[in-house]
Amino acid sequence: MKFEHLGIIDPILEALKDKGYVTPTPIQGEAIPAVLAGQDILGCAQTGTGKTAAFAIPAIQHIHRGIEEGERRCIRALIITPTRELAIQIDENIRTYAKNTQVKHTVIFGGVKQHTQVRKLQNGVDILVATPGRLLDLINQGYIDLGSIEVFVLDEADRMLDMGFINDIRKLLKLLPRQRQSLFFSATMPDNIVKLSRDILRNPKKIEVTPVSSTADTLEQAIYYTNKSTKRNLLVHVLKNPEIDQVLVFSRTKHGADKIVRFLKQKHIAAAAIHGDKAQNQRQKVLKQFKEGKLRVLVATDIASRGIDINQLEHVINFDIPNEAETYVHRIGRSGRAGKSGYAISISEPEENAYVRDIEKLIGKKIPVIQDNPFPQTDKPMTAAEKKEWNKEKQRRKQEYFANRKKNRNTRISR
Ligand code: AMP
Repeated sequence: MKFEHLGIIDPILEALKDKGYVTPTPIQGEAIPAVLAGQDILGCAQTGTGKTAAFAIPAIQHIHRGIEEGERRCIRALIITPTRELAIQIDENIRTYAKNTQVKHTVIFGGVKQHTQVRKLQNGVDILVATPGRLLDLINQGYIDLGSIEVFVLDEADRMLDMGFINDIRKLLKLLPRQRQSLFFSATMPDNIVKLSRDILRNPKKIEVTPVSSTADTLEQAIYYTNKSTKRNLLVHVLKNPEIDQVLVFSRTKHGADKIVRFLKQKHIAAAAIHGDKAQNQRQKVLKQFKEGKLRVLVATDIASRGIDINQLEHVINFDIPNEAETYVHRIGRSGRAGKSGYAISISEPEENAYVRDIEKLIGKKIPVIQDNPFPQTDKPMTAAEKKEWNKEKQRRKQEYFANRKKNRNTRISR
């Protein structure tokens, strides 16, 4: 199949050609004609499947037609997405696909001052990409009116609910016109997502591509089993492989991500972290460096990594094994995207071995174990009693730490 067969107008076809897209991905092949025909969509697709173009191209085309027919400019397409990075990326994609049209678009997200975003809105926008919090904020201040929305896209709905945006979404839904086209995308379809989709969609076309339980064919997976105390050294060992050009390393926690970066720097490996505690401009700067190939190792938490779309990324490393198997599939979906080859390397400490079993159940295969391992796993997972003891000990240490901090502060003040 070719893009030419999907009913896409020439200005967009030209832009796709310039971008180097030759054939539509499966979700594009199915969704684009249906959306152009005005249908609602329930898309079960993760990032990496080409879903952004699947909803962005028809939206641009719809608005382009309206502009040609002399309709006045107002926000006619709204795309809601959970994270700032993803919002920025969707807006960049729209810029690429819409470059030969008069369609105006912008992106708004929190964590930065609002005045530039407000100015752009005041200059007139056809497509708005937004994260929920900032959107509601600007609506409440009277800068945005959703009364003219014709196409509504809810992207990464499952992540949206995981991040606690359900109330924001419900508020937004009340502000949207009833008469509209809605496109709903989610990587997974648990009951709460299906229920939400029913409240939003009307007689949707259901499209499912690469279900979350199957990992991309182009992706090779492997795992090291090691001890907690040897994980970081093992990471350094893995990074010695010159075939690893650039790599995204996942850490479960923000604190953990910073610790990994500090350790790698000590070992003279250039690395930077991206997570929710970093300022927005810092996050963008690091991401830009990484995308431009100026940074070899990017360490990210799951939320920050959502939507990081790096075209040539071949390697991801799971420094922590996620306790939800689906998160693993999301993570490794960062590499080997849109037909490119990819390698996902995981490092498991004894306490995480059980999570690996869950992942293997979900993906339906065993992850090959790397035998050439200078730090093999020798420790055993803790028994339930040991875990209880350890948790008590952690609690005790935490209390001691805060007590000391308070004491030190008091001494400083009294001095
Ligand atoms: P997405 O799932 O929308 O985040 O897209 C994943 C990646 O695939 C992005 O880097 C897109 O630029 C790229 N992509 C999307 N559609 C195509 C296509 N038809 N051919 C080649 N690459 C594509």
